Amino acid sequence: LVQARNVHKSFGDNQVLKGIDMDVFPGEVVVILGPSGSGKSTFLRCINHLEDMDGGSIQVGDQQIGFELKKGKLHRLSSRRIARQRQEIGMVFQQFNLYPHMTVLQNIIEAPIGVHKRSRKQAIAHARELLAIVGLSDKADAWPRHLSGGQQQRVAIARALAIKPRLMLFDEPTSALDPELVGEVLATMRTLADQGLTMVVVTHEIGFAREAADRVIFMDGGVIVEQGAPDQVLSNPQHPRFQSFLSRFI
Ligand code: ATP
Ligand code: MG
Repeated sequence: LVQARNVHKSFGDNQVLKGIDMDVFPGEVVVILGPSGSGKSTFLRCINHLEDMDGGSIQVGDQQIGFELKKGKLHRLSSRRIARQRQEIGMVFQQFNLYPHMTVLQNIIEAPIGVHKRSRKQAIAHARELLAIVGLSDKADAWPRHLSGGQQQRVAIARALAIKPRLMLFDEPTSALDPELVGEVLATMRTLADQGLTMVVVTHEIGFAREAADRVIFMDGGVIVEQGAPDQVLSNPQHPRFQSFLSRFI
């Protein structure tokens, strides 16, 4: 579903991504681990074109991110078309950023109605299904500020799912939460993984990687240093930098 090839990205002199190759297959859950500043967020942001890459290519489904193929040639897309590509990808951030002046339900139906032109009735029915999946059926009419951090993040996940994305990107979805609220968000993500959603997850939750990931990728210094099945790489990392990274979690 995702094919990233030789992705490069710099901010000024700071070379952040130095040639990332990554494939994600439909239904796969890929967890990306790596120290702070290794380029994990930048890479996720390139996948849904929140950042413009400097080199390389990323394909999601049949779409070349930022480009379209016309008469055998790649053409740069207009910002409107980029926005449309982005709509096939759901993203959940560390900060949940719910709209504070909207109820939970309004937060979830906003994009499906406003952008995807679904009927209000359809959008509401789908939103209620999603709230059931994230375990918040009773909170449809609540205001975000009246919810715990974990509940807000689960609403943010439901909101991202409301556009029926083919791919979900999670960037440290539990890092801003109090420790006792992390579990409920990870459990929700686990449910989605079990339902076959294709997910790329940046997280420091090694337990989640071990239990839910099909593949673990370790990034450091803008490159992929090591990757493999979680039971393999997490218990027997080969690269010294991955070994020392993991030793901090034991
Ligand atoms: P963390 O675990 O702390 O979230 P990360 O692996 O997600 O780290 P990135 O956020 O991708 O790392 O950042 C990688 C590098 O790129 C850092 O040195 C950061 O300062 C730099 N960087 C990221 N975004 C920008 C930006 N918009 N402008 C300038 N530099 C940036
Ligand atoms: Mg980050």
